Amino acid sequence: MSCSNCQSPERTLYGPGKHPALTNIGLGNWIDLARCELCGTLWCSSPYEPYAAFEYLARWEFTADEWDQWHAADAGQTLRLWHAAMIREHWLGLAEDERARVDEHRRRSSGHNPIDNTQVFGAAEARSLLPKR
Ligand SMILES: [Zn+2]
Repeated sequence: MSCSNCQSPERTLYGPGKHPALTNIGLGNWIDLARCELCGTLWCSSPYEPYAAFEYLARWEFTADEWDQWHAADAGQTLRLWHAAMIREHWLGLAEDERARVDEHRRRSSGHNPIDNTQVFGAAEARSLLPKR
């Protein structure tokens, strides 16, 4: 059964718009880590242009310590590529109204977003970006 607050584990991604109530537990370089107090699931958030106004949440299946380590390794660069890859891989699974908000972001960003600009945001699979355990 999914969490009544963050819908984990059924849900993997939140697009721009309504997000569940989360507690911030890790502040990074344009990427943060937050926890659902109801179920303990960790979510990785990052804002996208324009104006850093389009925030997405991707479910973080590892520990907070691992998030800290992988952020520290290159000031969050690989984590941000991972986050962008999660958007690319999961946005089509969102509900129709949420996909509409992603499409609005794609229009407002003039293509500068993880779905339309793989030169900037990479094209690797999310799973391939994180260190092996
Ligand atoms: Zn939850």
